[in-house]
Amino acid sequence: MKVIVIGGGAGGMMAALTAAENKTNTVTLLERQNRVGRKLLATGNGRCNLSNIHADISHYHGDDPSFAKIALERFGVQDTLDYFKSLGLLTVTEASGKVYPFSDQANSVVDVLRFALQRTNIDVRCSCEVIAISKKARGYSVKTADESFYCDKLIVACGGAAGSKLGGTELGYKLLSSMGHSCTPIAPALVQLKTDTAFTHALKGVRADAGITLKHNGSVLLRNAGEVQFTDFGISGPAVFEISRFAAPGDLLLLDLLRPMEEAELTEYLLQKQALTPDMPLEDLLTGMVHNRLGRVILQKGGWDLSSPTHTADMKKLAHLIKFFPLDITGTMGLDQAQVTAGGIRTSEFRADTMESRLNPGLFATGEVLDIDGDCGGYNLQWAWSSGRLAGKLGGE
Ligand SMILES: Cc1cc2nc3c(=O)[nH]c(=O)nc-3n(C[C@H](O)[C@H](O)[C@H](O)COP(=O)(O)OP(=O)(O)OC[C@H]3O[C@@H](n4cnc5c(N)ncnc54)[C@H](O)[C@@H]3O)c2cc1C
Repeated sequence: MKVIVIGGGAGGMMAALTAAENKTNTVTLLERQNRVGRKLLATGNGRCNLSNIHADISHYHGDDPSFAKIALERFGVQDTLDYFKSLGLLTVTEASGKVYPFSDQANSVVDVLRFALQRTNIDVRCSCEVIAISKKARGYSVKTADESFYCDKLIVACGGAAGSKLGGTELGYKLLSSMGHSCTPIAPALVQLKTDTAFTHALKGVRADAGITLKHNGSVLLRNAGEVQFTDFGISGPAVFEISRFAAPGDLLLLDLLRPMEEAELTEYLLQKQALTPDMPLEDLLTGMVHNRLGRVILQKGGWDLSSPTHTADMKKLAHLIKFFPLDITGTMGLDQAQVTAGGIRTSEFRADTMESRLNPGLFATGEVLDIDGDCGGYNLQWAWSSGRLAGKLGGE
């Protein structure tokens, strides 16, 4: 059987390798960029957080996250790690559950996949962008600018629109829409937040372990905690990515910049410091407690003059500001900056047990092009591996 896979990302490579396990299949993998796995190389800050041992549907989103259940069960985390081990990749699982290559290099993941793709029944064609697909009496026709291909079974693994510099594109949605499929609204998920930068612009590059409370119309929408990174436009970091899908302009973020201490304990501690060094400039008061630049910004936000003596400041008010540092959300960064796309091709139009289209038999889809996206922490790649494996079975087993 002739199989074409469109897209040489995580899901597409897994689907192509799986389809090629049946030696009677010939598989052509078409990739628009000049190499496969380009986005994979950038994942996990170059380390590739390829999975998470906690991957179950509670970590996935979309109109119907339960669509991901069968794929995640049939080719779960351990199956994925065993599979990569069989390709030559050793992995390590951090205490948080995040899985990385033992080499700590994303290129190891791409390389083992690339080597495996050098099988005789797989033809990998890079710099080959598919511009149209159509149904034939039997099978599908696939067109690039210069060539037409025919296949019995077609797997669309074009990914989502997030991370355009790394290959993110809306082409997958367009190709599948041309076959009668529909797309839910797409939006950036796992993305940096734009905030009022009047005070925080001075914090560019500063990282803090913070608690985050997201408030909408005065009510708490959700809470999170973890690493927060200040940027010139707002805030970033894993803890921010995780709440980004819920944040909207006009919402309020309250950062707890000193998580280990309760507010009362912190007030007491600051009062002791104040009593010991009443004439010390306020600028130095928070030294040793938070990042120096952060300390200065907290004081400025509170309206204090940095050079005034410590005894002039209200420690109760300062402790409260450290525990509830407010930032007005003005928006999110765009799809080009996002790690993943929320929304995509409607999963109700596909079979969860095969990834085959309900509208077009013999047409399969995998990965981010579908309306499934995961939390930060390896869940998106696990979805790509699991759904890619299922799609590559081409409806068999
Ligand atoms: C900066 C960044 C960091 C990330 N870090 C992590 C992480 O650590 N862990 C994690 O789980 N997830 C991470 N993600 C998300 C994860 O990379 C994606 O969810 C995952 O790669 C999706 O896999 P996919 O196969 O569906 O799509 P992709 O990996 O995007 O692959 C799609 C491929 O299809 C090709 N293509 C598209 N259209 C066509 C066409 N018409 N013709 C031919 N080829 C086409 C594209 O060029 C691309 O190579 C990160 C994303 C970004 C942007």
